[in-house]
Amino acid sequence: MNIFEESKKFIPGGVNSPVRAFGSVGGEPVIIKKGEGSKIYDIDGKEYIDYVCSWGPLILGHSDYRVVKKLKEVIENGTSFGAPTELELELAKLVVDYVPSIEMVRMVNSGTEAVMSAIRLARAYTNRKKIIKFEGCYHGHSDSLLVKAGSGALTFNQPSSPGVPEEFAKLTLIADYNDIESVKKLFMENKGEIACVIIEPVAGNMGVVLPKDGFLKELEELCKNEGALLIFDEIITGFRLSKGGAQEYFGINPDLTTLGKIIGGGLPVGAYGGKKEIMEMVSPVGPVYQAGTLSGNPLAMAAGIETLKILGEPGFYDNLRAKANKLWEGFGENLKRLNLKFAFNSIESMACMFFKDGQVESFKDAVQSDTKLFAEFFHKMLDKGVNLAPSQFEAMFVSMAHSDEDLEKTIKIHFETLKEMFG
Ligand SMILES: *Cc1c(COP(=O)(O)O)cnc(C)c1O
Repeated sequence: MNIFEESKKFIPGGVNSPVRAFGSVGGEPVIIKKGEGSKIYDIDGKEYIDYVCSWGPLILGHSDYRVVKKLKEVIENGTSFGAPTELELELAKLVVDYVPSIEMVRMVNSGTEAVMSAIRLARAYTNRKKIIKFEGCYHGHSDSLLVKAGSGALTFNQPSSPGVPEEFAKLTLIADYNDIESVKKLFMENKGEIACVIIEPVAGNMGVVLPKDGFLKELEELCKNEGALLIFDEIITGFRLSKGGAQEYFGINPDLTTLGKIIGGGLPVGAYGGKKEIMEMVSPVGPVYQAGTLSGNPLAMAAGIETLKILGEPGFYDNLRAKANKLWEGFGENLKRLNLKFAFNSIESMACMFFKDGQVESFKDAVQSDTKLFAEFFHKMLDKGVNLAPSQFEAMFVSMAHSDEDLEKTIKIHFETLKEMFG
């Protein structure tokens, strides 16, 4: 039986999240059987060094023994209650302790849900309707966020999916990442109407694009002056760039923060949090409704707690950075040896190589990448046992489980692949 062909009969496209279907690289997805440390294994037993890490959550690698042990302990007592538990308090305390701007936090089940709820809260708090997002930033698939700019007309927006009413789309304004003037312009044209600006402080869904010096600080000040809330979507960067996420890394104080991925340690968790004064508008203390049958699920909390405790140990990020830098430097040398000028963006343990010469500092730069070359590169790496995300516009992640041997092997395979393609 071909599992993927069979799955397509029962699940749209055979997958439960579109990018997994290999649409942009062609071919059929690998069907995974298990993961252990830095490796995943497909149903035929082939081994891959994995840099997808479940799209970010697995900062400790696959089936970390401490997380698994904790899950086993907790599962013995039941899987869900829909009533308060001590585990929820424990994870909330860790989040508040680690993330500088978060004084209070609400747990949900996914990043999408976290962002959707944070936007609702920002609209309620400011009593304004419009929101600003950046082209190329992804914030989950809720209606308000599935919007991009229509053919250069910044204020007349088209939904990026059928089923999103254009009435919703009109309330979402699109600015250019790393271009503060584009944000100022929107504020000027919509005076007193902007509830919030939401941004991935390091963009991780158009490849990896770093904020230019001062950009986030200017954004913070602009929001303050305009009475709009600044929302940091730290679903990738939270607990990834540092214990306190991008806000700690860059010294920014957002009003609200959304979290996901690492916070669940591989189980489904999202969260949104921020200043107490804002968070106390959430039901049942305040009037902003938001709920969830499985929110704060004990298993999900347990995996999150164990993961966050481990990444809070002294030296964790120094260790992770050393691993990542070894890989990024190796890639850099490979490019140099082959005289290739592809853009390579990295920060801490996340990175992306673009099949485009020169710099990538914006969405417009990123989309100039040659996705056909990426597809060829991707499949060659996969054949040689290195699993990357099946799209040019995704990050790769180094986990704590990647060994020196893994990294050296990856650098070698990277060189061989590029040499085959361009040597
Ligand atoms: C993954 C992601 C989301 C969506 O999270 P889901 O758990 O997939 O719903 C939102 N924002 C960013 C920045 C993400 O990377």
